Amino acid sequence: MSRYDYDLFTIGAGSGGVRASRLTAMGGARVAIAEEDRIGGTCVIRGCIPKKLFVYASEYAQGFRDAVGFGWTVEWARFDWSTLRDNVQAEVSRLSGIYSANLEKAGVEIIPDRAEIVGPHTVRLAASGRTLTAERILIATGGAVVRPDIKGAEYAITSNEAFHLDRLPERVVVVGGGYIALEFAHVFHGLGVHATLVHRGQMVLRGFDDDVRGHVQAEMKRAGIDVLTETMVTEITPAGDGYLVKLSDGQVLETGLVMFAIGRAPNADGLGLEEVGVRRTDVGAIAVDPWSQTSVPSIFAIGDVTNRVNLTPVAIREAVAFHRTVYQGIPTAMDHTQIPTAVFGLPQVGVVGLTETEARIRFGPVDIYKTSFRPMKHIIAKNEERMLMKLVVRASDDVVVGVHIAGPDAPEMIQLAAVAVKAGLTKAQWDDTVALHPSAAEELVLMREKSIPPAS
Ligand code: NDP
Repeated sequence: MSRYDYDLFTIGAGSGGVRASRLTAMGGARVAIAEEDRIGGTCVIRGCIPKKLFVYASEYAQGFRDAVGFGWTVEWARFDWSTLRDNVQAEVSRLSGIYSANLEKAGVEIIPDRAEIVGPHTVRLAASGRTLTAERILIATGGAVVRPDIKGAEYAITSNEAFHLDRLPERVVVVGGGYIALEFAHVFHGLGVHATLVHRGQMVLRGFDDDVRGHVQAEMKRAGIDVLTETMVTEITPAGDGYLVKLSDGQVLETGLVMFAIGRAPNADGLGLEEVGVRRTDVGAIAVDPWSQTSVPSIFAIGDVTNRVNLTPVAIREAVAFHRTVYQGIPTAMDHTQIPTAVFGLPQVGVVGLTETEARIRFGPVDIYKTSFRPMKHIIAKNEERMLMKLVVRASDDVVVGVHIAGPDAPEMIQLAAVAVKAGLTKAQWDDTVALHPSAAEELVLMREKSIPPAS
């Protein structure tokens, strides 16, 4: 008989926590999972899934415009926000229900409460005050939106609230230049809201390849999104039905809605970590070793709360690695390299591997292959959107170390390109692959001319 109530107690029922709990319970262990909100976490409840559904909705507008060139007349098209919002929430509820059912089927006890750690093997439930013990505790509490510290910040929304608006405004100001800002600027723009993006940097998508950043910024402007750079919101004041937004460069914008998308932070405050001796990094994340173990041997952490690579599939992989290491006796460290990622903005972006700059710093000489073109589907539609593709190749051995795509279906393409990058294939092997014609993706295996670097 174990001296603990459970073998594993998981805090947080998002993608990582659910996967680790299910696997462990299916292996015969006694597992409980505490969740203060709905089951599913950021991705299912207020992130990837509802966001992607909004992106699909917003892309119909361009689709209707493109259809004209193909002979269609679409005069009747009308958009109803409440239908989209409510259908998306119904889908979120359905998925959350499936997550709960799968946990129960695996034998995991779901505890709908907030849990705090009060000892290396002990948690206390906030609402009931009950304490429970476990041989191991897994923290999978994810991240939380960062809110700005400016006058009038309380009038702005974040992505959390964007899914529940009563109505769409005529104009929106989206603050930030990362994933969430670009995706929501695209969503609002597509749904007919005049969108202004306010970004503090010179170019959006810091950390992405410079060619992609330039292409994305130019495409957003071409499509009609106002992109204001090197400026910040300093104050928001209510005015009439909307707000006045003061910027650091002196401009004042009138808008019906302000949305901040200035990053997410590890959701690790108030968990009792300091009291129990769990070390945190300088950005407040839970510090873990390659096996997701914290400085307290019985406590582990996975997903965004550890701030390694903050993406759902990564949290799931970390959960699997944790399970294999701890419950199957196979030490497994998650490989955090060559992870594909996508921005579902306008244009869509898909990347895997190193940027040109990163590759030059790491390997020295690199060969660059890039192309920019209008996809075939756009020509008779008179859609001016261009597509960018770029391969970064290590000169010493011809291995493709980075793939960068911006344009329609880039996220779908990058998933497959990631297989080749992960496998370490050479440019010659890419070129050996016969093109699939006619497609945009065929350009990936047809780029023969090295791009000449600009004279320095
Ligand atoms: P990001 O870190 O991607 O971007 C934050 C943006 O806000 C940056 O442009 C940053 O500028 C800017 N910023 C930061 N602080 C301030 C400030 N005080 N004032 C003004 N601007 C500021 O965060 P997101 O919120 O967009 O997304 C959070 C994370 O969620 C992502 O990094 C990603 O890991 C994940 N995510 C993934 C998605 C996907 O896979 N499709 C979709 C959505 C989220 P600067 O560049 O100058 O630092």
